[in-house]
Amino acid sequence: MTSASEPLAPGSTIGIIGGGQLGRMLSMAAAQLGYSCHIYAPEEAPCATDVAALHVHGDYDDAEALRRFAESVDVVTYEFENIPAAPLRMLAAHIRLHPNADALELAQDRLSEKDYIVSHGGSPAAYRAVSSLDELETALGDLGTPAILKTRRFGYDGKGQVRIMAETDPATAWAEIGEQPSVLESFVDFEKEFSILLARATDGSTRIWDAPDNRHADGILAQSIAPGTGIIADQRVAAGDLARTVAEALDYVGVLTFEFFASDEGPIFNEMAPRVHNSGHWTIEGAVTSQFENHIRAVCGLPLGNTALTAERVEMHNLIGADANDWLGRLKKDRAHLHLYNKGEARPGRKMGHVTQLF
Ligand code: AMP
Repeated sequence: MTSASEPLAPGSTIGIIGGGQLGRMLSMAAAQLGYSCHIYAPEEAPCATDVAALHVHGDYDDAEALRRFAESVDVVTYEFENIPAAPLRMLAAHIRLHPNADALELAQDRLSEKDYIVSHGGSPAAYRAVSSLDELETALGDLGTPAILKTRRFGYDGKGQVRIMAETDPATAWAEIGEQPSVLESFVDFEKEFSILLARATDGSTRIWDAPDNRHADGILAQSIAPGTGIIADQRVAAGDLARTVAEALDYVGVLTFEFFASDEGPIFNEMAPRVHNSGHWTIEGAVTSQFENHIRAVCGLPLGNTALTAERVEMHNLIGADANDWLGRLKKDRAHLHLYNKGEARPGRKMGHVTQLF
């Protein structure tokens, strides 16, 4: 194996854990730089494997299969954070793993994540750990309503969350969340939502893209518009400074995403993801170097690319469920870039593709 700080030569193999659209777009960026990708995923035909050299079929909790996979490639990365950190931590002594297991573990638990952000000077919404109905009632007494109860682990796209209003019976909310270890957080009266996408290289250098204005529908990202203006432009520097501090503290390598609420009280941290992110898809055509390319550059020990905008304004629209059916119509728009993930059936709520419009 090459030393951990040496650049990986073109022709090397990148192992990606997870086989969804993020893995697909990472593989495409890796191919451009002369690398090939092996995908480790439990599904029969995950969409990343269309564009990768090999699909290794295995469960995320199969430590032995993960070990064999990790040892057969030159660097391991992941596009999905709900994988057990322990087996990867054990392997990290003799394989290259980026981002590291500490970052993965931290981002898997909403409570540890918020505590960590606070200890590095960030401000999440007021929160309380909740592991019983009694604790939920006490936490509601402290924080009041409206509030949101979120599972500590395995939440995404608004799943694993229950809104609690003044009239909600706490016992119903506790049953609805599945009586799982959770965090109760105050409802933030925000003006806009935005994200900070940061790339950090093995030499510690960082790059941050323009902060996109993220618009959600039913808890799922619908649009990202870059650059975010108004309150986002006012708060992106403070949010970016926090992101840099956290990335440094974690000795992070790769793309790290932070979601924020822009409110009167400043940027309120929502959550982080130790990976490329849907709110950075616009960077494929909308930035000089995309989040996918910079993630590949970082994990392979290469210098990072420029993250400046390539247009005055960029809009990314997710194609969710049936939105993807009008693919032909989307192609008729000037300066619009269509991306389809070849995921088969366009089930409601499923991310089937996205369109990036340059202005
Ligand atoms: P999450 O899965 O935590 O990113 O939440 C999904 C979406 O729910 C966010 O993007 C917000 O639109 C909304 N949301 C989550 N937490 C809060 C909060 N504390 N206050 C207001 N809205 C929230």
